[in-house]
Parts: sequence; C-alpha cells; structure tokens
Amino acid sequence: MGFLEGKFKKPNIITVCYDKLMNAARSRSLWYLTFGVACCAIEFMAAAASHYDFERYGMFFRASPRQVDMIIISGTITRKYAPVVKRIYEQMAEPKYVVAMGSCAISGGPFYDSYSVVQGVDKVIPVDVYVQGCPPRPEALYMGLLKLKDVINRETIVVK
Ligand code: SF4
Repeated sequence: MGFLEGKFKKPNIITVCYDKLMNAARSRSLWYLTFGVACCAIEFMAAAASHYDFERYGMFFRASPRQVDMIIISGTITRKYAPVVKRIYEQMAEPKYVVAMGSCAISGGPFYDSYSVVQGVDKVIPVDVYVQGCPPRPEALYMGLLKLKDVINRETIVVK
C-alpha cells in the first residue's frame, strides 16, 4: 500500500470492503476496443491521442474484444452492421460496459427514420452511458467516461 507505507508507528491491518476495492480497480483501468464506426470515431481518436491522452486515466486500447472492458460505439450503426456489433459485444468478457457516443449511436442522429440505420445502438446491445453531440468533442467523451467510472463504483459484486 505504497502511500500508507511508514505512516503508522506500529504494524497495522488495513481492512477494506471488497466491492469498493474491486470497483476502484476496474474503474481505473478500463481497457477499450479499437473500434470506430463513423465520423464520431475521429473525435474518439483525438481523445485517445497525445493531447487528451486516455492513458492518463488508465484507459488503454486492445485489438481483441476478449481483452477489453468497454466498447465505445462511435458512429452510425446500420441494420446490416448491427449483427456484427452484437457479436463483438458477446465476445467481450464480463463485466463489460458500453458507451454510445454521438447522436447516431444514441438515436440514429441525422439518419433518424432511415430505412437502413438502427435508431440507437441500445436496440442491439445494452448501453451504460450516452454521450450526446454530433460529434461530441473529446471533452464530452471524457465526461461520459467519468460518468461510467461512477456507474462502476456503485456496482455491487456478488461472489458465487
Ligand atoms: S453523430 Fe454526427 S459525427 Fe457522429 S457519426 Fe453521426 S453524423 Fe457522424
């Protein structure tokens, strides 16, 4: 426990609630899938690049859905593409989280009522956080990811 080392004069035992410890670890090391769908993905890439730098928050990209905690849906989901998104989601290990980034992922956006566009990715997979905008700026995406941290920190872990 680095920051506590040497703070007490005598040996101590530190107790902590399991939920809090696990949630703190999970919310501070969110690995996300390298996955961009449409124009929102450019803002997503900007948020991950050196200026905004996701890695300062412990967020790191992986190329396989089997190794990630989170997927950011950054763009328009067409009906043809929806089964692919569902399959990627099913390949992710539990616990897993979904962020819908931008109007298209939230509700179809400018393609509202289009015959070929899914009217929100929550019709295909469950969504934890919505980040509005067309496209949302990297700061908005950050705000959404901080909200996701709050969601994770409120979770109760059931040990079977
Ligand atoms: S919300 Fe706007 S910027 Fe994002 S994918 Fe849709 S049209 Fe493009």
